[in-house]
Formats: sequence, C-alpha cells, structure tokens
Amino acid sequence: MSDLVTRFAPSPTGHLHLGHAHSALFGWREARRGGGRFLLRIEDIDPNRCRPEFERDLIEDLSWLGLEWDGSVRRQSEHLDEYRAALARLAGMGVAYPCFCTRKDIAAEIARAGAAPHGPDGPLYPGTCRHLSESVRAERIAAGDAWAMRLDVGAALRLTGPLRWHDRAQGWQTATPELLGDVVLARKDTPTSYHLSVTLDDHLQGVTLVTRGEDLFVATHTHRLLQALSGFEPPDYHHHGLLRNAAGERLAKRDRAQSLRSLRAEGASAAAVRALAGFPDESKD
Ligand code: GLU
Repeated sequence: MSDLVTRFAPSPTGHLHLGHAHSALFGWREARRGGGRFLLRIEDIDPNRCRPEFERDLIEDLSWLGLEWDGSVRRQSEHLDEYRAALARLAGMGVAYPCFCTRKDIAAEIARAGAAPHGPDGPLYPGTCRHLSESVRAERIAAGDAWAMRLDVGAALRLTGPLRWHDRAQGWQTATPELLGDVVLARKDTPTSYHLSVTLDDHLQGVTLVTRGEDLFVATHTHRLLQALSGFEPPDYHHHGLLRNAAGERLAKRDRAQSLRSLRAEGASAAAVRALAGFPDESKD
C-alpha cells in the first residue's frame, strides 16, 4: 500500500446529487489507482443546517453507489475541542482577531467605503474590527457582544512569507489568500469554520491528495496559509471540473431531480448512476 490518502468530505445539509457522486468517485478512483487509502469525513459543524438523517442517507447512498472507505468516518462535530485548540494557537500568534460585526454592519461599512475590495464570492470583509484596541475588545466581550474570530491575512503573510501550493491539474500556484481576505476561523455560534476545520482535519488524517471541485480552488490559497502558520506539510491538490445540468448550471442540492435517491427511486442501477456521474468504468469488483 502506498502513502497516498484521499478523502471525500460532504456536509450533511441535503441529499447527495450527481455532482457529489462525481467528487466522491474521483477521490476514490485516485486512491485506488495509486494503491492508497480513501477516507470519508462528515463536515457537520453547522448545527443549523446539518441533520443526522442526511448523514445516514449519504452513507447509504455512497454504499449503494459502490464506494468503500478505509477506517472509521471522522465526524467534525465530535472534534470541536481540537478546533478550539487550533484557534487558540493562531490567536496566540497574533494572526486572529475577534470580529463583532453583524452582516448588516459589514454591508453598511462596505456601502460607506464606496469601493470595497471584491473576492470571487462578493465583497471582502472590510477589516472593521481588525484595528480595535485590546481594551475595546475586552469591553465588548465583557458586555456580552457576540463575536466571530477572523484571520488577519496581512499579519499572517508577514509571518510566513510567500507560499506556494500544487494542483495536479493546474500546476504550481503562488498562494494569494488575499483573494478571500480575513476569512472567519470561528463563527459566532460554532468554535470553528470550514477553513479551520478542513485544514486541521486533512493534516490530522494524513491526507496527501485533496480532491475536490474547482469551486473550492480559491479557498486553497487560504488553506495553504493556515497550513504554514500551523507548521503542517501541505498536501497535493487536484481540483476537478464540476458536473453541470442541461442548462449548463452547476448542480446544487436543490436540484432534487438529480439526487442519487431520486435516480435510484426511478430504477437507475448503481452502474448507470456512476456513468451519469462521469465514471462509467468504475466498480469495486
Ligand atoms: N464540506 C465541503 C462541501 O461539502 C467540502 C470540503 C472539501 O472538500 O474541502 O462542499
């Protein structure tokens, strides 16, 4: 067995669709081709959107599709203390700060500033809370104001210096975490965020090749920075293209007609669904 480790990391916020099947089969095939291991991780840190029945159903759907994973399933909601500790280390390095802004505050600040820098997903956090003094922070925390923790990208890059990461499809990349700006590391309601937990988990689980959709390509710049701050060896990446519906739009969980469950209910075989997901030749036999 080689050292290659890939993973599929769905969030149980709805039923899996063909796009998820493509992503899962992609990681599984890479592990099989390389004689490595394939892991399943449940990214269920959002208590408002994740549901145990979606987790149960996605595990059943993946098994029905013919996928097998190695070792036990890691469920992020069971590791909140590890994320808290990782966050405390970053805060101790001076690269994370509490942010008291509501969505409304952020929108108002962006409107006031006139020209806010934009990232691929819209305007970036304008940095309102980055420069609050320690005494104002302490006062607001003591007053019971809710706060999130954000990454101070500028301070972080000053510590790490320039960074690179590698994508198997697109080659070497210069890390530009400025594209997403001061992302949230821990939300007001949860002691972590997607960026923090995914970086820590890929490291702790020994993932050597992160396979995921190209919609997450930009996030990898941020993840590379978090890896460097934490002293983690970066994995290799392969961001794959996204499956699209007949209208050329990305498949989303709301496209119920494309869910694995509905295809199965209509009588599609697992082999037929694997073919629809772009893997006509894969089977576990
Ligand atoms: N949990 C993320 C999602 O469902 C995927 C995370 C990743 O592959 O890095 O979109």
